[in-house]
Amino acid sequence: MEAYLYERLKDGKVRCDLCNHRCIIKEGKRGICGVRENEKGMLKTLVYGKLIAQHVDPIEKKPLYHVLPGTLSYSVATVGCNFRCRFCQNADIAQLPADRQGMIIGDPYTPEDIVAAAVRAGCRSIAYTYTEPTVFFELAHDTARLAHENGILNVFVTNGYMTSEAVHMIKPYLDAANVDLKAFNDDFYKEQCSAKRKHVMETLALMKSLGIFIEVTTLLIPGLNDDKKELEQLASFIAESLGPETPWHISRFHPTYKLTDRPPTPVESIHQARQIGLDAGLRYVYSGNIPGDEGENTFCYGCGKLLIERWGYRISRNVIVDGRCPECGAMIYGIGL
Ligand code: SF4
Repeated sequence: MEAYLYERLKDGKVRCDLCNHRCIIKEGKRGICGVRENEKGMLKTLVYGKLIAQHVDPIEKKPLYHVLPGTLSYSVATVGCNFRCRFCQNADIAQLPADRQGMIIGDPYTPEDIVAAAVRAGCRSIAYTYTEPTVFFELAHDTARLAHENGILNVFVTNGYMTSEAVHMIKPYLDAANVDLKAFNDDFYKEQCSAKRKHVMETLALMKSLGIFIEVTTLLIPGLNDDKKELEQLASFIAESLGPETPWHISRFHPTYKLTDRPPTPVESIHQARQIGLDAGLRYVYSGNIPGDEGENTFCYGCGKLLIERWGYRISRNVIVDGRCPECGAMIYGIGL
């Protein structure tokens, strides 16, 4: 299928404007993501309707804690990613084209099939997740439009590398996103992900300004992005540029893929980072990948009352009434709380 968002250049080349790599691609070649190919001067997506994963997940697994809590999200992915994170948690599917000589596999599913499956499964949202939704943008866009017609919300779990053109194009159908802000360090982005941090920050600010609901995630990796000063800067960026109401998830790293030379994140480091977020004025700072941790719960920023109690992805108690704390009446930021 012909790709969205590209420009034809001289000599049969094209420039893809879907993500901030803005690859210039010669005839017969693919972009960095490995799933968009220049075929005789036309850019084609190679993953439209080729699902490598589809699951019914709690929306808390994305993680999105402030969007329709306690509901199910129909979660889909194709292969491919525009990042090369050495610590990729889903490398077997995200890095498949990069690691297996361009291999692209997946089961045939149309947007109609995906929306019908979501409805059948009783899901209130569709999550474009596991790999990077930017690189299956055409499928995500067409599915998201159809989902809205059926009263289903759409959420992206993304590295935030979309161009502003892509964000504007998906905006009418994109209700919420969990965006990784992987570090507050340009070298980290360059060496660990082959990307530039500034573009992620631009995307976050743009999404916020367009009214797309945002939660932010940082995977805390020992010795790589856990510097106290950097975390303070990251937390301040969220508080000042996105607002103190923006939920921040700080997740525990486990050695995987190409990053196996360091230990899992000590739980204490997650707790310290969480405190840094709270000290920066953020109202909702969560610990991730530590089931049963107190930091999984939502507390009222006004009076401290426990509002949503979680264990892993399960909610055991939710006392929010009409989006407000039942104790002090503070408004709790989110969708469908
Ligand atoms: S989506 Fe793929 S082809 Fe397009 S700019 Fe990004 S990496 Fe390059």
